[in-house]
Amino acid sequence: MDNPVSQKPLFQTWSLNYMEEFKCIGSECEDSCCVGWTIPLNKQVVKKYKGSGDPEIREKAKNSIKKGKSFNRPDQFGVIPLADGEPCPFLDGCGLCSIQTKLGEDALSKTCNTFPRKLLAFPNNEFIAATLACPETARLCLSSKSAADLNVRHLPRAETPVGHAKYHFLVAKDSNFTDTSGQILQAFFNLIDDESIDLVAKSACLSLFVEELVKSDQGLDFIDFLRSTKPIKGLAQQVSGAIPEAQAALLQYQFMKKLLLDPNHPIELGKSKMLSLIYESCRGLKYYDKDLAQSVGTFLAAKKDLYEPFLSKHPYVWGNILKNDLISNPEIMALGNSESREVLEAAISRLSIIKFLFIAQAGYKGTRPRLEDLVRVVTVVRRFLDHSSQRLEKFRGAIREIDQSSTVVNALLLL
Ligand code: SF4
Repeated sequence: MDNPVSQKPLFQTWSLNYMEEFKCIGSECEDSCCVGWTIPLNKQVVKKYKGSGDPEIREKAKNSIKKGKSFNRPDQFGVIPLADGEPCPFLDGCGLCSIQTKLGEDALSKTCNTFPRKLLAFPNNEFIAATLACPETARLCLSSKSAADLNVRHLPRAETPVGHAKYHFLVAKDSNFTDTSGQILQAFFNLIDDESIDLVAKSACLSLFVEELVKSDQGLDFIDFLRSTKPIKGLAQQVSGAIPEAQAALLQYQFMKKLLLDPNHPIELGKSKMLSLIYESCRGLKYYDKDLAQSVGTFLAAKKDLYEPFLSKHPYVWGNILKNDLISNPEIMALGNSESREVLEAAISRLSIIKFLFIAQAGYKGTRPRLEDLVRVVTVVRRFLDHSSQRLEKFRGAIREIDQSSTVVNALLLL
């Protein structure tokens, strides 16, 4: 007779290596997630805090929890609205969360319990990922190439690895993530690790591969898929190598000027840390001198003299950020998902904004950047963009105005 245990379907848990090490650093954190966000609370949590036996928690809850705008949605019944830079009222004098210290971890709201983790469950696959809006996840993810290597565990059905079981998993709406999707995710990671092609060629290949997946709602032969990707790689590298660097720098500068640097730019700013980054970038690029040729020349000099030596020491950094975005959005590997394109394009746009501001900031400091400088730029940009989806949408809209498929402009913005 078959062993009943062996009949249980295998279940796969996917994560990146660095997630095994992640722990919130609490009061040591330079950019606590308990500051400047609007925190949604469900009805149960609101009742628990307002009716708490602890008088301090009860009082703070009554004074600070407001009715959510979408209060008829169970998960947004209440909110703690925090202005830019304003700390959560439940933080104690040592920067620790008093809900956690007084009522225990189980009393935390879903957002507070989960952030910065992004946990997604499909019927046979679970993803343990994180947003790089947290400085500690960004620091760990960028610490080495292997930090973003895939970690795939095969477990008996739904045995989430210890340490993650207590968090809330989002159940994927669409369950099209199949074994082929898993193989494709691994193929995408191999492409990102391929040292024979540059970042521009990688992003072009990923866009073309995703087009294939969107068209493949009737199924896809993985071996055929891999064969079809081979010539694309060579072609994308040739195109990337043929883009004149000065022309790309001019487009990058003009694009970012219109959307980020110009004080009248259409992307509304609300985060003081993003404002500081933009101010430094403007100074680093001599933006206020109003001399386009000089600004573009300064950008190119910062790229060559400061950024490129950094990159030769840490060549994996952009790949690690891309991998983190892919594993945070595994639904893009589901066949026939028309939203896959959008999700990938958004990841590439975020990368081009981070890269531009990182080079400009190096120009401002006048020294070769360190990994910690990249952690800062990644975290600040992620928080700025994650806070309101409209910000990235405006950026994406401007790209589409020039290039409907976005592939060419993305290549120019990433070079
Ligand atoms: S941002 Fe990250 S490290 Fe900082 S307090 Fe939040 S979870 Fe902890």
